Amino acid sequence: MKETQEWMAVPIDRLGRRLPRCGVCRQRRREIYDLCQERTWRDLSMRKLPLRLLYRPRRVDCPRCGVRVEDFPWAEPWARVTTALANAVAVLARELSWQGTARHYGLSWKSVARIVERAVEYGLRHRRRPPVHVIGIDEVSRRKGQVYLTVVYDLERRVLLWAGDDRTEEAVRPFFTQEMGRRRCHTLPVVCMDMWAAYAKLVREYAPNAQILFDRFHIVQHLQEAVEEVRRSEMRRLSRKERVVFKRSRWLLLKNPWNLNPDQKNRLSTLVRWNTPIVRAYYLKESFQLFWDYKQPARAKAHLEKWMSSAMRSRLEPFKKFVRLLRGHLGGILPWTTLRLSNGAVEGMNNKINSISHRSFGFRSAKNFIAAIYHCCARLPLPAER
Ligand SMILES: [Zn+2]
Repeated sequence: MKETQEWMAVPIDRLGRRLPRCGVCRQRRREIYDLCQERTWRDLSMRKLPLRLLYRPRRVDCPRCGVRVEDFPWAEPWARVTTALANAVAVLARELSWQGTARHYGLSWKSVARIVERAVEYGLRHRRRPPVHVIGIDEVSRRKGQVYLTVVYDLERRVLLWAGDDRTEEAVRPFFTQEMGRRRCHTLPVVCMDMWAAYAKLVREYAPNAQILFDRFHIVQHLQEAVEEVRRSEMRRLSRKERVVFKRSRWLLLKNPWNLNPDQKNRLSTLVRWNTPIVRAYYLKESFQLFWDYKQPARAKAHLEKWMSSAMRSRLEPFKKFVRLLRGHLGGILPWTTLRLSNGAVEGMNNKINSISHRSFGFRSAKNFIAAIYHCCARLPLPAER
């Protein structure tokens, strides 16, 4: 064993007395063709010194594969680090940024990126693919909403199934054709998603038996945007003095009335007496939300119909727009009452993806970002150490 200040080297003379194995088919081969140049592999550190394995690989003449470098039990054929180190790096990269992981193991960012990419490739090839019953399709924005990725979850197992660049029909199609495949698509009962035409179109095309359910949180998001739009246009209209009063009390509208103290209740009732569009918008929003609590489909539907007609009479343009959106998607909204499913089940996973994108300003390409998402959210198996 050689040791320097920076690292420790372990030369390996030969792999026991056994015959070498072909690096491709892993069969034992008697014919040794020649010896290669000495190669080194980074291994886990020993006594805080990076360990390096030194070995001159042999090439075997394999009747099946031709002349090939022999198989080494400590590393994959192409790898420059041992499987033990690669797995340790991969495990840490699930928790830390790639920069942080690289620093911890004294590797370059690029090496970590390559290790994670390989781990994901391996994991995708070897992961279990049990039947899927409920999937959630969601979009993730990158670079402040300028670039979108599509992620698909198994909502029952709460695990990422697929991640892809962009959210167009073309971009998401491989999820159905490659990841799911015909058989699993045809027996898929429920798909939960945003009211995004490209997703719905693909589901109708590839999983015609699936019930589409538009995600509760996305619907509420559209509703909140309507409230916000009303608020903004009203603020432009109000005098400066009124605006100050409003700004100070606006948050009262967003709180549950039973959480307010007497003074706050007073201010809220002043606002209500003004009966401004903002207040109307607020109460429309509150009454819409009752929809989610109904247990009987007929009653839920009646509530929604009543709500939509009152919103249409509200003289609030953003709400009329919201009603038109609902009308066009009712077939995927009403089933909520019986299914009661939403992508909220994987909200933790979406938060994880957001934190991946925040902590990793090093992701120059969507490809790296997607690898990181798979790596952290898909519960992929790592290569076994031999
Ligand atoms: Zn072979």
